[in-house]
Amino acid sequence: MTTPCIICVAITGSVPTKADNPAVPVTISEQVESTHEAFEAGASILHAHVRNDDGTTTSDPDRFALLKEGVEAHCPGMIIQFSTGGRSGAGQARGGMLPLRPDMASLAVGSNNFPTRVYENPPELVAWLASEMITYDIKPEVEAFDLSHIFRAAAMFEAGEIKDTPYVQFVMGVKNAMPVDREVFDFYVHTVKRLFGDDAPWCAAGIGAKQITLNEWAIAAGGHARTGLEDNIRLDRNTLAPSNAALVKRTVDLCEKHERPVASWQQARDILGLRSAAA
Ligand SMILES: [Zn+2]
Repeated sequence: MTTPCIICVAITGSVPTKADNPAVPVTISEQVESTHEAFEAGASILHAHVRNDDGTTTSDPDRFALLKEGVEAHCPGMIIQFSTGGRSGAGQARGGMLPLRPDMASLAVGSNNFPTRVYENPPELVAWLASEMITYDIKPEVEAFDLSHIFRAAAMFEAGEIKDTPYVQFVMGVKNAMPVDREVFDFYVHTVKRLFGDDAPWCAAGIGAKQITLNEWAIAAGGHARTGLEDNIRLDRNTLAPSNAALVKRTVDLCEKHERPVASWQQARDILGLRSAAA
């Protein structure tokens, strides 16, 4: 039996603006609407950042609360994953929304370079974010920008700092970090299986034009896929993506091509070992 493919939609991020693509959802109501369309199109995980109304980044827990409320009302069952990424806040402010108990949160476990700066994830902050996720029963998604991050996740699991088998996302194509490289991708997959078992779920994200490449590699290799305007604002060189749902649709089509059923939110919760949806 083929494992259904979980599609995660990263709707906003902290970088793209409406000037880049007017479809980037910024206000809470835009975010809820865009998530709803993506959910209907086949996404079962929402990966979310929040913005101020002027489009600038924030980690304001009140805004995360409003987004969670809206998504729970309009997309019942969908898995909500908050970003604790470094672009939207500094230090412990990055985890200030965790008491809202989203199903999941992203967790960077090491540092690397980003296009214009250092993506700083000092050990003590990583440990604090991970412990908050245990306190609030949140499943971390480990963002692997580098091979060493997969090994760090294994060490944290060993030490009880990550409760369940780590769910790792390979991020490829960020300028100045790991490029999109097929041999590295294969080695990532091999390493996850070696450290966490053949059945351990994993996922992958590609940045920019390589989003679809990583979707296809992950789907064909039995992994799960991330899409959305956070990582890529175009359908092709000349065409802006009209919505997050359009990017999800493209990923759904690849699942069909590779004969992977698209996971429902129930199947996705099951695969990831998540608690059942909020009533
Ligand atoms: Zn993000």
